Amino acid sequence: MTPDLIIINGRLITFDNHNPAASALAIHGGRIAAIGETSNIRNMAGPNTRIIDAGENTVLPGFIDSHVHLFGGSVELDYLNLYGVYGLDALTAKVQAWSKTYPDDPIIFAIQADYNIIAPDHHTSRHDLDKAIPDRAFAMFAADHHTIWANTKALEAAGLLNGGVVDKGAEIVMASDGTASGELREPAAYAPMLRLTRYGGRDLIGLVTGRDPEPAATAAERILDADAIARGFKHCASHGITSLHNMDGNTYTLELLKALEARGDLLCRTEIPFHFKNCDTIDRFAEAEMMRQAFTGDMVWCNRVKMFVDGVVESSTALMLEKYPGLDTFGDAVFDENLFRQACVEADRRGFQISVHAIGDLAIRQTLDAYELARKTNGIRDSRHRVEHIEVLHPDDLPRFKELGVVASIQPGHAPFGVYFASEAVNRMLHPQQIPTAFAWQDIRNSGAPVIFSTDWPVIPIDVMPNVKSAVAPKAMPAPWRDQRQTLYNTLESYTVMNAWVEFNEDRKGKLRQGMMADIAVMSHNLETMNPDELDQARAQTTICDGRVTYQA
Ligand SMILES: [Zn+2]
Repeated sequence: MTPDLIIINGRLITFDNHNPAASALAIHGGRIAAIGETSNIRNMAGPNTRIIDAGENTVLPGFIDSHVHLFGGSVELDYLNLYGVYGLDALTAKVQAWSKTYPDDPIIFAIQADYNIIAPDHHTSRHDLDKAIPDRAFAMFAADHHTIWANTKALEAAGLLNGGVVDKGAEIVMASDGTASGELREPAAYAPMLRLTRYGGRDLIGLVTGRDPEPAATAAERILDADAIARGFKHCASHGITSLHNMDGNTYTLELLKALEARGDLLCRTEIPFHFKNCDTIDRFAEAEMMRQAFTGDMVWCNRVKMFVDGVVESSTALMLEKYPGLDTFGDAVFDENLFRQACVEADRRGFQISVHAIGDLAIRQTLDAYELARKTNGIRDSRHRVEHIEVLHPDDLPRFKELGVVASIQPGHAPFGVYFASEAVNRMLHPQQIPTAFAWQDIRNSGAPVIFSTDWPVIPIDVMPNVKSAVAPKAMPAPWRDQRQTLYNTLESYTVMNAWVEFNEDRKGKLRQGMMADIAVMSHNLETMNPDELDQARAQTTICDGRVTYQA
C-alpha cells in the first residue's frame, strides 16, 4: 500500500489513549492508513504520494462544528456586515456606501446588528433606520437571528407596516400609533422580510418553517443556492472544519447538498435535521422518517430532530423561571408544553436523536423534563439527546444532564466572557442569583455530562480559533460571575472527539488512529505551546476531509 498523502513533522494530538502523540501519519483511500514517527512514515511514500510538512505545528482531527446554520451562514458571507458598528452616523455611512455598490437589490440587507446599535438601551425603530436610509428598503438582522429591524420602506414592501397575525412566540412589535415599530421578533414575524432578499428567504426556510420552499425553487434558484453553499463550505474548510451538524433543515437543503456532493463541492460532511415546529402536528414525523431513509451517506445524512423552546436573553424572549429584572415578562414559550413533550416522546420512540434550543432556566428545565418523560415512556436507550446553548441554568438542573445522559451543546464564543459580545448586554438581563450558574461550562463538565462545542454560525463567525480562545482564555468578569475557563485539551476534545461521538461516529472519526476517516486539520501554530491569549491568531494551514485536501493556506 502506497499512501496517497502523508503528513510529517507534526505535533499530533491524536485523542487515542493507546497512542496519544506522534509526528506523522499516512492516508490511503480516505482513511488513516498508518500513524507514527516521521522517519517511518516518510519511508512509506511512493513517487505519487503528496507530502505535507506540518513544520512542528499541531495536527489534529478535523474540527466538527456541532451547531451551525449552513445555508444562512453561507449567504450571509455576501451581506452588509454591521459587526462593531455603533451609532446612527456610522450606520448611515455603511448603509449609504452599500446602497451605491448594490443599486439593484430589492432590499439592502444587513447582518450582525447589535441590539444597542443606535444607543445603549435604545430600542431601534423604523424611524431610526429611516434616518440612515429613507428611500430604499433596508432591514438588518441581530447577530442572534431572533430579531430583524426594518425601515418604513422595507415594512411597506413586506406588507408589515400595519402589523399582522403571527405564531406563538413571535411578535411584530407595534408602536403607540398603531403602526409597526420596525422590530420583528422571531422567524414567524420576520419571514416576509426575508422573502425580499437576494435568495428569497430560501436560506432560512429550514429555520422558519422546516418545510420546503413554496413555490418550489426553480432550476436557476437551485443553482444560485447551491453556489452560495459551495462558497460557505470553502469558508468552513479554510478554518480546519471537516464536519457540520446543521441546526435547521428541510428536504430542500438535503437535496442541495447531494447536488454539491455530485459536483465535488461538498467540502464538509453535513448532518441536516428534521425541524419540528410549534405549529406542526405529531403526524409530521412521517416526513422525518422519509428524510432519514433518503439520506444516509457519510457525507450527507439526517438522523436528528431539532426544536426551539425559547428565544434569547437579550430580547427577553429566553424562557425564565422568574421575570426579567425590571420587566413584566418570563420570556416567550415557543411551544405549548404538552405538544413539546409529545414531540420528544415520539421522536425518541422512532429512534431519532433530539436537539432542543433552550437558553433560559425554565426552557432548559422543560427540555430535561421532556427527555426524562421520553425515557420513562420508551425505555432507556443510548439516545444522546442534546440541549443547545444552556445559557442560564438553574443549579437544581445541573446534575440532571449526567443523570439523564443528556449532552450539553455549548458555544463558548456566545458568552459575555467570550471574544465577541459586550459583557453588559446579558448582565443587565439577569438577576444576581442567576449569574453563578450562567454559562457554567466547567460546572457542567465537572458534573460528568458530555460537553460539545460549536459556534452557531452565523450567530458568530465559524472561525474555530476565536471560539477556542473564548473557552480557554475568557475575559475576566466581576463577581458573581465565576471563572468557567476550559483547558485547551478539553476544548479541542469537545470540538473533535465529542462532536464525533454525539453523531454516533466515535468509532469512525474524531481521533487520529489507523482506520479512522482521514478528516484532519494541520494548524499554523503549535497550539499547546502558544500563549492562550494568542490562540485566536492560529489558523488552519491544511484541511483534509475524506482524504482529500479541501483547503491549503
Ligand atoms: Zn442555532
